[in-house]
Parts: sequence; C-alpha cells; structure tokens
Amino acid sequence: MNSSVIVVHYHELWLKGRNRRFFLAKLEAALRQSLEGIPVERIEQPGDRFLIRLADGASLEEAIERVRRVLGIANYAVARPVERNLEALCDAAWQEIEPLEFSTFAVRAKRSDKSFPQGTIEIETVVGRHLLEKLRARGRKVRVWLKDPELTCHIEVTPGPLLVYARKIPGAGGLPANTAGRMMCLLSGGYDSAVAAYLMMKRGAHLGFVHFYGTGARPGESSLHVASSLVRQLVPYQFLAHLYRVPFETIQREILRSAPEGVRVLLYRRMMLRIAEVFARRDRALAMVNGDSLGQVASQTLRNLVAVEAAATMPVFRPLVGMDKMEILALARKIGTYEISSEPFHDCCPVFLPRSPELSARPEDLAQAEQGLDIQALVAQGIQGATLERFRYSGGQVELSEPVPVVKTQPRAAMA
Ligand code: ATP
Ligand code: MG
Repeated sequence: MNSSVIVVHYHELWLKGRNRRFFLAKLEAALRQSLEGIPVERIEQPGDRFLIRLADGASLEEAIERVRRVLGIANYAVARPVERNLEALCDAAWQEIEPLEFSTFAVRAKRSDKSFPQGTIEIETVVGRHLLEKLRARGRKVRVWLKDPELTCHIEVTPGPLLVYARKIPGAGGLPANTAGRMMCLLSGGYDSAVAAYLMMKRGAHLGFVHFYGTGARPGESSLHVASSLVRQLVPYQFLAHLYRVPFETIQREILRSAPEGVRVLLYRRMMLRIAEVFARRDRALAMVNGDSLGQVASQTLRNLVAVEAAATMPVFRPLVGMDKMEILALARKIGTYEISSEPFHDCCPVFLPRSPELSARPEDLAQAEQGLDIQALVAQGIQGATLERFRYSGGQVELSEPVPVVKTQPRAAMA
C-alpha cells in the first residue's frame, strides 16, 4: 500500500463547455501512453485531477520524468500514502511540510470516499491545528491563512490509503497533445524552428516535419542527422511524427542560375513552402509552421515574410514572430533542443548567400523573379527525391523507421 501516487492537476481553462470530456480523455490517454512500460496500478480521476497509482517496483523518478513532458498538465505532486486514521495523517502532514519554507499556510482536504468517518472540515481543522502547534513549538513564525496561503497542505481521501502532499511542481502546461488538428513544420536544424514546433504542439497541434538538405556535407555534418535528432527530441510530446527529408541542392542551383542574386534566399523559402505544402496535404495538415521571427535576419523583414508567404496557399503560422533570440534560446534549452541545434551541420541555405539581400520584396517581384523557373517541375522533383522517416514514442523510447521514398511508383502520384 505504500507505492507512490502522483497527483496531476490540469488547467481549468480548456474545460469550459462541451469539450471537457474530449480533452480529459486525450490527457488520460497521453498519461497512459507516456507511462507505458512503468508498472502502474491504475489511473483514477476522482474529480478535477488524476491520481496515478504506481505499482510495486515502479521507479518514481522515471515516472516523474515521463509525466513532466505530458502537455496539458498545470502542475503535479508526489503524494505520501498514509494509513486511514487522523493520527497517521497528522504525522504524515508534518513530515511533508516540515522541511518547507513558508509564513502562511492552509490545509485543504478533498473527499471522494464518502465512507471515511470524518468530513473535510474536521480533517482540515484537526490537521491544521496539529501543524500549527508543531510549527510554533519549533519557534517558526507562521499563521493559518485560508484565503491566499503561501503553502497548501493537500489531503486526498480516496478509497485505499489517504494521500498527503504540499509540493506542487509546475507541469508542461498547454493543452493535451493532438487535440487541435495537424500542422506541417519546416524544420531547419537551427534553434528556431524546433522551438516553433514545440509551441504549436503545446497548443495541442500534431506536427509533421519537412527538412530540406544540401549535399556535400562532410561526414558527421549532415543536417539530416540534426533534423532527425530534433524530431526524436520532440516526438515524446505527441507520440508519433513524420519527417519528410527533401534534397534541395539541385533546386537551389536552378534558382541560382535563373534568378537575381538579391532574392535568392526568398525564392528558396518559397520553394520550400510549396513543397512542404504538398506533404502537408498528404498528411491532412491544415496549416504550416516555421521559425521566422520578425526582423531576425534579412529574409525575415515584414515585407519579405509577406512576399514569401504569397507562394503558399495554406496559412503559415509563426509562433516566434514576436520573440527575441534570447527568449527563443531559453525555450530551446528548456525543451532540450538547444544542444542538438548547436551541433555543427551543413546548412543548405547559407550556401550561395547573396552579398546584398533584398530587404523589401513584393510578392509580384518574386513571382517575376521566378519567371525563368519551371516551378511545377521543381516541386515535383523535390517530392520525387524525398524520403520519409517515421518516429514513434513508446515505453519511454523513441523508435525510428528506416527512411523510405515518399513516391514509390509514378512521380505524379504524390501530386494528385
Ligand atoms: P532556424 O534557427 O530555425 O534555422 P533561422 O533564424 O536560421 O531559423 P532561416 O534560416 O532564415 O531562419 O529560416 C527561417 C525558417 O525557414 C526556419 O525557421 C525554418 O522554419 C525554415 N527553414 C529554413 N531552412 C530550412 C531547411 N533547410 N529545411 C526546412 N525548413 C527550413
Ligand atoms: Mg536556419
């Protein structure tokens, strides 16, 4: 009976209205999937929270490590299981709060097992008084403040052992995974696009990924490897993911050959959007995501962003558009993509970079600059050369399929 219990709280915001059941079912499914391979006795939902009862032999550290990444969790706590009597409860509550620093506190009991002899008010009063006496005896200057206490000692009366906890740890936040529909992310290998993907996942979107790579990388420098590692790092948030890998160098050379130097990078971006859009449709995504941040580099002036996006027919979301690089890097560190993006790799875009890039392109200028290009043929070529890698997170591990060509038979098939 002494196995640990993790108490999981979610934000109430997304629980308004008829979506409640849908979101909670998704959150529960995400908890179960994340904990796969760890012995769990059961997951209960005695009210506005989940209780994860670990079975004997389960590693608490490992379980916490998994729960930490489950989207939709506002905070969680590890509860002490306690024998079903008030004396044991008082002792356990004292052990729980004694090492913590606070000047005001309250005891809050919740009772989903109505057969317990004492009611919540009685439990709160008895435990609260006990704690106050012990604290005062230690000379600690504390008082009970029910309205807005610095520390709350929570008590859960559920069938089985009583539960006590006082330390709430912030969870990943956001909305439960895979509740918002699909998006396709243009993933470069740099810091920004991985963070952009994470932010959209956090709002419940399921992301697919497209990466464009150049050839000519020295061994160990391939951007493919970096893109793959980034998806590996991100997939635990949403459990499954596709990574489309598109060879881009011959397309770049075409652009290089026929377009004015100043708009090269913008034309690369337009081609990337067009190709990504085909994969987006293939995976039934409704929008694309990229890591643009307003004014960060020459290709990301407001006019350039608008002129590039004109090549897409789907909406392009840019969750980093209003963020500073420092804020983006802090997030990258938090989600563990910083180290991966810091690895040196062969980025296809800086190759053939123009000496003086256009800062203020208009969509019609770019369309004009594309006159000499057979856009359809280049898109088809990108798709024809693309390979697909599938990721799956299960039992705490990421499994990865061998990359397979996206188009198996006729080159035109994927375009339909
Ligand atoms: P990042 O740090 O993500 O590379 P960045 O600030 O370097 O971003 P750019 O290189 O201008 O910005 O790219 C802008 C966005 O275009 C990226 O965030 C990404 O979404 C997309 N992108 C750029 N290069 C690639 C690529 N090789 N494959 C897929 N998407 C790309
Ligand atoms: Mg980049």
